[in-house]
Formats: sequence, C-alpha cells, structure tokens
Amino acid sequence: MADLRHRRIAQLIAPYRVEAGRRVRLPKDFPTDAPGKFGKADAKHAKEVLESSVSLLAEYQERLAAQDTYGVLVILQAIDAAGKDGTVRHVMSGVNPQGVEVSSFKVPSAEEQDHDYLWRYARRLPSRGSIGIFNRSYYEEVLVVRVHPEFLAAERLPPASKRGDVWRRRYREINDWERYLTDQGFRIVKLFLHVSRDEQRRRFLDRIEEPEKNWKFSAADVKERARWDDYQKAFSDMLSHTSTAWAPWYVVPADDKPYARLIAAGAIAHALVEINPRYPTVGEEARAALEEARDELLAEGHDRAGTDAGGEPDAGGEPDAGAASADPPSGGREHGRHHDKGSGKRRGRHSQQH
Ligand code: AMP
Ligand code: MG
Repeated sequence: MADLRHRRIAQLIAPYRVEAGRRVRLPKDFPTDAPGKFGKADAKHAKEVLESSVSLLAEYQERLAAQDTYGVLVILQAIDAAGKDGTVRHVMSGVNPQGVEVSSFKVPSAEEQDHDYLWRYARRLPSRGSIGIFNRSYYEEVLVVRVHPEFLAAERLPPASKRGDVWRRRYREINDWERYLTDQGFRIVKLFLHVSRDEQRRRFLDRIEEPEKNWKFSAADVKERARWDDYQKAFSDMLSHTSTAWAPWYVVPADDKPYARLIAAGAIAHALVEINPRYPTVGEEARAALEEARDELLAEGHDRAGTDAGGEPDAGGEPDAGAASADPPSGGREHGRHHDKGSGKRRGRHSQQH
C-alpha cells in the first residue's frame, strides 16, 4: 500500500528534479504550468493525490520522531507571489505541529550581519526527529544579494572574500555545508516554485484588487518585478550549481496552485520514504522489564479488588480516580497515597495523548 503510493509519488516528481551538473536556463527549461491532465479543471484529482501524500507524510513524520536519528530540512525559494506560504500551509496540514518548525528569513538584522552569512540559518536547523521548513533560506545569499549588490556590501566581508567569483565560491560553500548536514543525518529537500511572469502579474493584481489580500502586497514588489530577468538568471545559476546528488533541487511548476502543492508534498514525502525511519524496537532486557511492569500493574488491580471490599463488580475492572475518591477511609494512609499516585499518573498520560 505504502509502496504503491510511493511509486506514484516518485513517478510524479521525477520530471522536476534537477540532475546534478545539469545546466539550467529559466524560464524555458522547466514548465511553470501543470501538465494537461492536471489542468485547473482537474483540481479535484490533484486534491485527492495531495491528500494521499499528506497522509503518507504524517505517517512517516511520526516514525521520524520515534526513531530520533534523522531530520529533514525543507527549503522553499521563489520569486514573490509564487505561493511559498500557501505551500507551507497545505503541505504541513496533516502533520503533528510538535515535529515541525517553520522559519522565515527577511532582510538580515544588524546582529545577523555581524556574523558569517550561514550563521542565522544554522541557528534554525531542525533537530533529529523533526522537520524544519525554511521559507526563504541561505539561497537568498546567491539570489537577492546577487541581484542587489548593496546587500553584499552590507555584509562587511574582508577584501579577500570579495575577490574572484563570489557566487561560485558561495555555491561551493553551500554544497559543502549541505553535504556535511546530509552526512550528519539531515536530509535536505529543496523546492524552487517556478511561476510565470504573467501569473505573477495576475496575482499582484488580485492582491491590489481584493481588500483582504492587500496586506500581501507592497509597492516594492513591483520594483522587484522589473528585475525579473536578473532573478531568472540568478535562479538558473543557483539550480545549475547547487543541485547535487545529496541535495537535488526540484523545479515545481507553480502557476497552478493545487498542482504545485501536490509536487511539493510529493517531494517531501519521497524523502521521508527514502529515509524509511523505523519505530525503535525494544531489546530483550527492556522487553522483560515491560512485562514485569505489566504484571505489577495487573497485580495492583487484583490487590485492590480484594482490599476495597464492598464487592462492587467494577472495582477490579477500572481501578481509577473514581475508586480513589469514592472510599478514602477504607484502606488507611499508605493505601490512600498509593491510589492518588496511581490515578494521577493515569491522568497525566491521558492528557498528553489528547
Ligand atoms: P517576505 O518573504 O515577503 O516577507 O520578504 C522578505 C524579504 O526579505 C524579501 O524581500 C527578501 O528578498 C528579503 N531577504 C531575505 N533574505 C535576505 C538576505 N539574506 N539578504 C537580503 N534580503 C533578504
Ligand atoms: Mg513579500
């Protein structure tokens, strides 16, 4: 069952993976729109497949957390209005919020500029057993910083690191860092949402015309749009130099939102299935300890059925809070304390589960 789901997902996302070493030229090398059968009219089908990816994600996330050995870092990069926020929302809709942390990166603060450029991203990396989502990432350091050299100037680099090809050096540094993280057990899933220029224009117009979308729009967005070609070039170079065997990029067609979400969820689910995290199994010693604990708990139920008298038929079956408060004087001090402790534990465990 999981195998079938996985095979379908692997097939679906394969055309969008950038093979290591491939020279990419955007916009033409990858589609921005969904293939015919997933067109806008077929959003319902996409929704169904998305739900199956999301459920697979939830299932594997639980195992990832239980195993507590691997982590996953999801990176989202795109031009404005390509749908990063909506993707985060949909893709993570089914997972346990305790196991996911989303970090969004803006223009660096003064404190952040006082450090090497990877510093602020390193501080937000996921821990073992969890999923981290970077809404924008260290890739901004070869994107917006490249398109706007004033950001590079603000980084106060020593002269030696401004000489030569700054961007090539950064690609290498990023590849090395990702290699290191991968070796450490952190799988990196990189998603570039590829939207067309026309679709961005339509979405900007929507943001201006619909009052509840006004907050998403700033006049600066239109100024950035004027640099469209510079961004396409920076994205192309980034994809050509940083798609590696250990951390490949996916170019997600983003003109059709349901389809984009489907591919994004699929790429993350695929990584989790490949990690194949497993529930830890207990060794023989631990198994024996569990059985001893069970015997003790069962014996406790019998003891009480004997001491609590009254002969109520439920006394043996459910020795819980109700029994403890119903007849406090019967068992003496020692017994009473014992009861309280037991029922308190039960309640504690329940409240954690719900
Ligand atoms: P938003 O995601 O719409 O809230 O915008 C965040 C802004 O922060 C965008 O304009 C990014 O280009 C900018 N930004 C993110 N990271 C960096 C960075 N490292 N250097 C400069 N600007 C950045
Ligand atoms: Mg913005």
